[in-house]
Amino acid sequence: MYARRLEKLGITKLGDFLYHVPFRYDDYSLISKISDLQPGETVTIQGKILEIKNQYAGRFIIQKAKVEDESGIIDVTWFNQPYIIKTINVGDKISLSGKIKESKGKITFVSPDFEVINDSYPIHTARLVPVYPETRGVSSKWLRRQVFKILDDYKKNLSEFLPRDVVSENNLLNYESSIEQIHFPDSLEEAEKAKERLSFDEFFLLHLSSTLRKKEWESKLVQKPFSVSKFKKEIDMFLKNLPFELTNAQKKAVDEIFTDFTRSTPMNRLLQGEVGSGKTVVAAIAMFVAYLNGYKSILMAPTEILANQHFDTVSKLLFLYKIKVSLVTGSKKTKDKNFDVLIGTHSLLFQNYDFKNLRLVVVDEQQRFGVEQRAIIRKKGKSPNFLTMTATPIPRTVALTLYGNLSLSYLNEMPKERKRVKTWLVPKVKREAAYKWIEKQIKENNDQVFIICPFIEESESMVTVKAATKEYERLKKEVFPKLKLGLLHGKLKGKEKGEVLKKFREKSIDILVATPVVEVGIDIPNATVMLIEEAERFGLAQLHQLRGRVGRGNKLSYCLLFTQSTNPETLQRIKSLETLYNGAELAELDLKLRGPGQLFGTMQHGVPELKIASFSNFSLIEKTKKVAENIFPKLKSYPLLYNKVRELNTQQVSPD
Ligand code: ADP
Ligand code: MG
Repeated sequence: MYARRLEKLGITKLGDFLYHVPFRYDDYSLISKISDLQPGETVTIQGKILEIKNQYAGRFIIQKAKVEDESGIIDVTWFNQPYIIKTINVGDKISLSGKIKESKGKITFVSPDFEVINDSYPIHTARLVPVYPETRGVSSKWLRRQVFKILDDYKKNLSEFLPRDVVSENNLLNYESSIEQIHFPDSLEEAEKAKERLSFDEFFLLHLSSTLRKKEWESKLVQKPFSVSKFKKEIDMFLKNLPFELTNAQKKAVDEIFTDFTRSTPMNRLLQGEVGSGKTVVAAIAMFVAYLNGYKSILMAPTEILANQHFDTVSKLLFLYKIKVSLVTGSKKTKDKNFDVLIGTHSLLFQNYDFKNLRLVVVDEQQRFGVEQRAIIRKKGKSPNFLTMTATPIPRTVALTLYGNLSLSYLNEMPKERKRVKTWLVPKVKREAAYKWIEKQIKENNDQVFIICPFIEESESMVTVKAATKEYERLKKEVFPKLKLGLLHGKLKGKEKGEVLKKFREKSIDILVATPVVEVGIDIPNATVMLIEEAERFGLAQLHQLRGRVGRGNKLSYCLLFTQSTNPETLQRIKSLETLYNGAELAELDLKLRGPGQLFGTMQHGVPELKIASFSNFSLIEKTKKVAENIFPKLKSYPLLYNKVRELNTQQVSPD
């Protein structure tokens, strides 16, 4: 019965208790004599039970006790805990901790924490007492007892696994003390040192494990390198035929990919670039070069909409070269099973196509892809080259930790003509005016508008859909009766979604009311206004991704943010979008202001949960990375450490 509850806390085996760490400590370390007690102070007293009984007061049962030490006697009261009188007996030596109260001129103790201390060591009182994240039916007191017991049994297994030099050079507490002190600290300083040490471990192990995976990838997987120089003429021609010149960042990414192609280890590269930075064309060039070498490519998108869009874009880009581009989604597939480039959703993995010559796999939005899917792909081709594209603005430091095993290319530059999306947090009183302004933009400038409904649940549920539908009806009837509105949400069938988007693209819809599904990748150059409801529900990085849906053409674009919140900090946070336009910077700010949960809530896969450390601790991330680089070449000479790293690798969920 406990098992299921504990699972909620992430505890599935005994050792996990030791990593379920307190989020604070109650300081009950001051032990006082009864005669010295002052009202309001938080203290511990230790004495003998003179008397203890239940008293009935209407619906309540009150537990009354008298406790004596060498200096005096005090009354103690608890409410509705009748079992107490079974655990505590007259004559027991007891330790009581809590806040002293004064009632009718008399000093009393109301609902103190307590434990009988006949000979045992106090764990709930008379010390810094750990307070743990709890869940229904699992109290801190219960957890404390388990941890204490397990620590006692487990201690001998807690041998130091870090190299001695690493411990001393970084001023770390040893492993055993750290585990002990984080639960039952001698002082807050010791607790802090324990936390530092265990945070160090977490990042250090992550770095080592990703380095190990990288080395394993490099040593196990071999490929016959592609030729790039041989096709210089064709590649130059391809670039010349593009409707634009590549940005420097795109050129650099392309070069990095070419270099990978010519190695005998297949590429495993993450292409990170904000929405609109032009990742697709980079992928298309890579697929073109694979084709020139006589190989096949696949491009996988997380949604049908995106797969269709990629299919259109890539078909156009590759049109001149007799390259056979095919499409497979849940609702559409090309009849001919032959392809040079195959584009689709994950249903592509389960098709009976000829994957024999598959040598390049492009994955758009990597966080939505699990390891299993990557494993299937790898089996289909002969250890193909992987290019993963993501617009999720991951702070650089976090990327270093999580994707240390991947090579990184950053598109940190936007195509020239793109203008910044002018962003405002719109005060409540200006809502009507904002609607009027939107109507004017549509009528006078022929603009198109996204209205994004609140993000109600993490994955799109009926609740979200209903809210969006309601808002759509309201806007249609009451606000914009003269305009053409469309509705897009995740519960629409692939075909319906496609139709709505087609209409929007063809401008037979002025305003597209949508749930946050549009976040990923839709390219509609004529859309210039984005209105976001209840912006406070989103992370900054997410809002930034959303506003990237507009400003894709040459017209000036706008993002209007609405919020119900009146909290000055929240308003300030949202307002930072008015001046900050760098996704990674916004992600970093999110990390600082809201903590990692928010950022990673949107990333879904591939992020190991940290138990103790925090991804916002950038300096520790960098420090541990350096130490890990030093130790890695000698890793096998530290068997305990090596085992820990391997263990972590078998649990890894991030892409390798
Ligand atoms: P994302 O990185 O969000 O996937 P896309 O690849 O969809 O971005 O590109 C966004 C738009 O920018 C597309 O319409 C594309 O044709 C255009 N684009 C890409 N690279 C350039 C460039 N170097 N100059 C001008 N426009 C570009
Ligand atoms: Mg894209």
